[in-house]
Amino acid sequence: MPENLIRGLGTSLCEWQSSRILARVPIISHRQLIPPGQRLVVVAPHPDDEILGCAGVLAGMCGRESELLMIAVTDGEASHPGSQEWPASRLCEQRPLESVNSLAQLGLDVAALKWQRLGAPDSQVAGQERQLCERLHALLRSTDRVLTTWRFDGHCDHEAVGRATARAAAVKGACLIEVPVWAWHWARPQDPRIPWRRARKLLLDEELLARKRRAIAAHVSQVTAQGSAAAVLTDEIIERLLQPFELVFL
Ligand SMILES: [Zn+2]
Repeated sequence: MPENLIRGLGTSLCEWQSSRILARVPIISHRQLIPPGQRLVVVAPHPDDEILGCAGVLAGMCGRESELLMIAVTDGEASHPGSQEWPASRLCEQRPLESVNSLAQLGLDVAALKWQRLGAPDSQVAGQERQLCERLHALLRSTDRVLTTWRFDGHCDHEAVGRATARAAAVKGACLIEVPVWAWHWARPQDPRIPWRRARKLLLDEELLARKRRAIAAHVSQVTAQGSAAAVLTDEIIERLLQPFELVFL
């Protein structure tokens, strides 16, 4: 997370729980969000964004695996710059495996899932945005629900993937769904930069939250501390992403 918006401890879970505007966001059901018969395409900048941003949406696809396409834009090889334990060559292999393991923790039949790994360079997706948009356009159908990270999420890759996906979906005529991931860190509880009018909440019950927690834990490289260095995903970050709902921007 190289961006300057993502620094310090960020907005705490407690602060979000006191947000009046967040409390008033209307609820949407999974059936409304991804109607039966429609394909869900998830475009993840890094292997873990699909879980951090939309584990509940994905879990709702259990039994509908044939209607799901996972697109991994990068392999997440830049998460540990300079690390001897996690060099880029190891992360390139490890992180896609973690994605598969975490989807299994959600209860999805991973053998039945379709994947596309695009192999874009982690932390430098913006440099290939046009090519990414073209590849996405070739993969999408006009009837798809296309879910990706919010175009203004505060991380360069999340924003580049968000922009490219939004453009590809618009040209194709597909329905776009954006999710915040790092915005939970830098945004404030009443933040006017958040598109509250577009926001809907998908509620997650206790059982689903337990599955999401296990799915996050499957990203071993991201949740494990490195000697004196903190994990990429600290306990505070994880707890903030385990609110009893997921926010989507329609
Ligand atoms: Zn990410």
